[in-house]
Amino acid sequence: MRRFRAPGGILPVFATVATVASLMTAVLAAIAAQPAGQAPAAYTVLTRDGRRTLATRVFSGQEMFALDELAKMFDLAIREDAVVGALTVTTKTQTIALTPGQALASAGGRVVSLPAPPVKEGQRWFVPIDFVPRALAPALGTRLDLRRPSRLIVVGDVRAPRITARVEPQNALTRVTLEVTPATPHTITQETSRLLVRFDADVLDATLPASPVPDVLQALRVADPPIVIALDLGPRFASFRASDVPGERGAGRIVIDLIAQTTEPAAPAAPTAPAPSTPTPAPAEPPLLETTPTAGLRIVVIDAGHGGDELGARGAQGTLEKDVTLAVARRLKAAIEARMGGRVILTRDGDQTVGLDERAAVANNNQADVFISLHANASVRTSAAGAEVFYLSLEDYGAQAQRAAQGDGEALPVFGGGTRDIEVILWEMAQARHIEDSAILARLVEGSLRDRVAMSPRAIQQAPFRVLVGANMPAVLVEMGFISNPEQEKQLASESFQTSIVQALVESLLRFRDTHGTQTPPPAAGARR
Ligand SMILES: [Zn+2]
Repeated sequence: MRRFRAPGGILPVFATVATVASLMTAVLAAIAAQPAGQAPAAYTVLTRDGRRTLATRVFSGQEMFALDELAKMFDLAIREDAVVGALTVTTKTQTIALTPGQALASAGGRVVSLPAPPVKEGQRWFVPIDFVPRALAPALGTRLDLRRPSRLIVVGDVRAPRITARVEPQNALTRVTLEVTPATPHTITQETSRLLVRFDADVLDATLPASPVPDVLQALRVADPPIVIALDLGPRFASFRASDVPGERGAGRIVIDLIAQTTEPAAPAAPTAPAPSTPTPAPAEPPLLETTPTAGLRIVVIDAGHGGDELGARGAQGTLEKDVTLAVARRLKAAIEARMGGRVILTRDGDQTVGLDERAAVANNNQADVFISLHANASVRTSAAGAEVFYLSLEDYGAQAQRAAQGDGEALPVFGGGTRDIEVILWEMAQARHIEDSAILARLVEGSLRDRVAMSPRAIQQAPFRVLVGANMPAVLVEMGFISNPEQEKQLASESFQTSIVQALVESLLRFRDTHGTQTPPPAAGARR
C-alpha cells in the first residue's frame, strides 16, 4: 500500500501507532460526552505506514467524511460537473460516480447503495462514512475495514485483531477471557508483576474493562508496543494458567485463570480433628515458585466430592454422597497428619459448593504432591457394589495431551520467560505428564482397598474426569462404594467402613511415598509455542 501517504512523506512505520487502544478509549469517552450538535470524534486510519485521523461531520443524522480529505489520504482525484450534475472520484484505475441527491454510487460499473446522498457545504463535498468500505474499497482494490465501535479504518493487510475482554471473579480464581477476532497467534509470559499477552499483529483494536478484583488483577491495558495486552497483577496473585479455545467463525478465545494466594481452605478445623500445632507455611511466598524438590509427600490434597448445592448421589435411606465424602476426607486428613506428617489440605471442610477447576487449583496452588478425590458411586442396578479407583484417561483430551503424556517436550505447551522461574502448562494438559505416576498410585490404592473393603469387578479404570485433568501432580479419584446399594449405603455412613477406607488410603500413600514420592517430573521443555 504505497498510495496512502502523509503530506510530508511516509510516516515512520508504527512510530505513531502507539496506544491506539487507549486513544480509542479516550475517543469513545469523548463521543459519549459529546453534547448534541458538536462534531463527533475522528476516525483513526491504520495502515502499514502508520496512523492518521479522519474527521467526520454529521448532516441530518448521518456521519460523513469530507471527500477532499479522503482524496488527500487515498490519492484520489475529484471532479464536479455542475452542468450534468455529476461528481466523480477517480482512483489510479477506477472511477466512482456520485449523483447529488441520490443515495447511490457507481464504482467500476457496479452500483452500491449509501445511507444518504452526498452533501455539499460551501465548496466541500461530504459522503457518508459507508462510502469508504462500499465504494472506495472496491475502486482501490484494497481492504478498508470500517469499525464503528472502535472508530477505526483498517487499511490493506494491517493485522489489527479486535479484542474484547471479560473479567470474572470466581472465588479463588479470577478468570480473564480475551475474545480475539480473528484468532491470532500469541504468547503469554510473566514478568515480576504482570502477565504479557503478545499478539502476532500490527496493532490491537482492544476494548478492555476495569478489573473488579484489584487485589488479584490491578488493571488490564494495552502495553507498549501496542500489540501486547498487560495484566498488571495485584498483591494476592499467586499463579496463573492459560488455555486457548477456538471460537466461532474464525475467532479465538484466550482464557487466563489468575489464582489468588489462599490461606488453607480448611482453616476452621474439623470438630472431630483439632488442628495440629505444626506451623503451616506462611502464604506470603507464592507456593508455585518453590522449585526445589523435597523428598516425600509434603502436601496432600484431599478432595471431598460434591458439597453445597451439589448433593452427589443419594441412597435410598437418604444418605448423601457429599456428607460421606466430607466425613471420610476429615478422617483421612487426621490420619495422614498423625501417621505421615506433612500437610493435608481439604478442598472443602464444610458443606459448600466448590467448582471442579477450583478443586484442582487448590492442589496446584499449594504445590501438592498428591491429589485424591473422594466419591461414592451410584447405579440403577441396586446390586452394584464395590470400590473403584480411577485415574485420568487422556482419550477425550486429544492428541496433544497424549503426546504430552509420552514426554514429548515439543508437545508440551509451556509458557516461560520473564524474571520468575515459573512454568505454566496449559491447564487442560496439566495431568497428562503425571499419568504414569497416577496409574501407579491408582494401583497402590486399589491394592490397599482390596485388603479391606469389597471391590467392584472393574476395580481400576481410566476416565476423563474433569476434576483430575487440571491437577499438576499424581491424582486419583476413589469411588468408595455404591450408595445406591442399600447395604453399601449403610456401610458408607458407618464409622468402621470409613475407617477401613482411611486405613487403605494411608497405607497406599505410604507405599507411594516410599517408592515414588521423591520423583519429580522432568523439567518441561522450553518450547514457547
Ligand atoms: Zn461423586
